[in-house]
Amino acid sequence: MATALEPKTRKPQVRETQCLIGGKWQAAKSGKTFETINPATEEVIANVAEGDAADIDMAVKAARNAFENGPWGKMDARDRGKLMNRLADLIEEELDELAALETLDNGKPIRDSRAADLPMTIDCLRYYAGWADKLHGQTIPVRGNYFTYTRREPVGVVGQIIPWNFPMLMVSWKWGPALAAGNTIVMKPAEQTPLTCLRMAKLAQEAGFPDGVINVVPGYGPTAGGALVKHPDVDKIAFTGSTEVGQIIMQGAASTIKRVSLELGGKSPNIVFADSDLDAAAAGAHFGLYFNQGQCCCAGSRLFVEDKVHDKFVDKIASMNGKRKLGDPFDPATEQGPQVNKEQFDKVMGYIEIGKKEGAKCVTGGDRWGDKGYFIEPTLFTNVTDKMKIAEEEIFGPVMSILRFKDIDEIVQRANKTNYGLAAAVWTRDVAKAHLIAKKLKAGTVWVNCYDAFDAAAPFGGFKMSGIGRELGERGLDAYTEWKTVTVSLD
Ligand code: NAP
Ligand code: MG
Repeated sequence: MATALEPKTRKPQVRETQCLIGGKWQAAKSGKTFETINPATEEVIANVAEGDAADIDMAVKAARNAFENGPWGKMDARDRGKLMNRLADLIEEELDELAALETLDNGKPIRDSRAADLPMTIDCLRYYAGWADKLHGQTIPVRGNYFTYTRREPVGVVGQIIPWNFPMLMVSWKWGPALAAGNTIVMKPAEQTPLTCLRMAKLAQEAGFPDGVINVVPGYGPTAGGALVKHPDVDKIAFTGSTEVGQIIMQGAASTIKRVSLELGGKSPNIVFADSDLDAAAAGAHFGLYFNQGQCCCAGSRLFVEDKVHDKFVDKIASMNGKRKLGDPFDPATEQGPQVNKEQFDKVMGYIEIGKKEGAKCVTGGDRWGDKGYFIEPTLFTNVTDKMKIAEEEIFGPVMSILRFKDIDEIVQRANKTNYGLAAAVWTRDVAKAHLIAKKLKAGTVWVNCYDAFDAAAPFGGFKMSGIGRELGERGLDAYTEWKTVTVSLD
């Protein structure tokens, strides 16, 4: 049963709005600020420092100094892990307040912030804390009288640019492996959702991270983000966001040959066979698309349903959409909040119009919900074909497209016919079929009889234009370490 929230939890205090550079909280050098908006009410929450190239330069210098000269570089690996665990503990102590801050800034339902974003953030930091003292090199039997071994070293100063759909969780996915490996960080959070990242930076200070190890510069993508990408003293860029900006980042990083890891967009196929547990498949497909207001890079946005069960399946989804509870994100019963901002709201509504014009059948939703806040009704299109825009482009909203298929050979081809390759799912009771399709799908993650089953230990990332590199798990450390080969003559 839903219970009323304490007023304090509804109105979290906004404490940090400045840049954190070299351990000091400071206004942007230009003095500029930007507004962060509550998407449920369209009201301004706070004015946040608008960092640009000048602030990024200071932050990079602070991160470089912390990397080369500070206590961080001399710290025992196990003690880095201890600091990370302490940060996770502090986040856990403030779980209610942080979940409320996330809901205020992003609009996601408080039930999701509390049950998903916060616990997964804490879990990710603890998972990587355990890796800090387990990054081993090897001894290598080379020809000749030599002793050859490898060392895994931090890359150095890493620039991290994150999106607004899972603000805190993205911080943990970026900080976790970077800190475990001993790097120092300059992070630019998304302009739409800077508040929880800044709060986490404050908690990192309290946990005892030395000054300059974690620097946060809020600001806009092309200015603050662009300056970070081009800065000659940044060794690596890690980015999550749109494929278009991913391309700009690769180009920007080319002149200094920065290491680049990218987690980009998707148009993930979710394939439902007639021999699956249809109720489970419908519930999983519903969750896999509408969760987080459809604002997931891995949303199952091309839902392929076998002909034989198509109509039954559509009914199930439509009935779930009819019951979905939209409204105040701070109401613990609310399942769907607003889209993150006006721009995203307009973009998603634009795709709904396109879908209608392209001849898809709008079975549920299709309109704005309410008259305040950026809410969109859970929308379901059927009669969608592969060539329609709504089946090819990333919508990033609560818009499901159902496509029909007849057999297994056809479906694998159609599922792979996209420039993206982030995730995919298959629903069937036939074990051999499930594994065969899992092998053939060109996607970084394949879920079988489940969707969005994430774990800090399981790598995640994209094939094709969905990205470069992997986050999470042991593979997530690859992007944050250099291998050094040392060869000693024994003569
Ligand atoms: P975006 O522009 O790719 O934003 C992601 C991050 O990159 C933000 O911090 C953004 O800063 C920054 N950025 C933007 N332009 C940049 C540049 N030229 N150089 C360096 N950094 C830059 O995404 P969006 O505009 O918020 O959303 C657009 C679409 O991207 C969505 O509709 C969705 O399709 C996709 N998206 C994907 C993911 C994902 O998880 N893969 C997440 C979010 C959005 P500012 O926000 O401050 O401009
Ligand atoms: Mg943008």
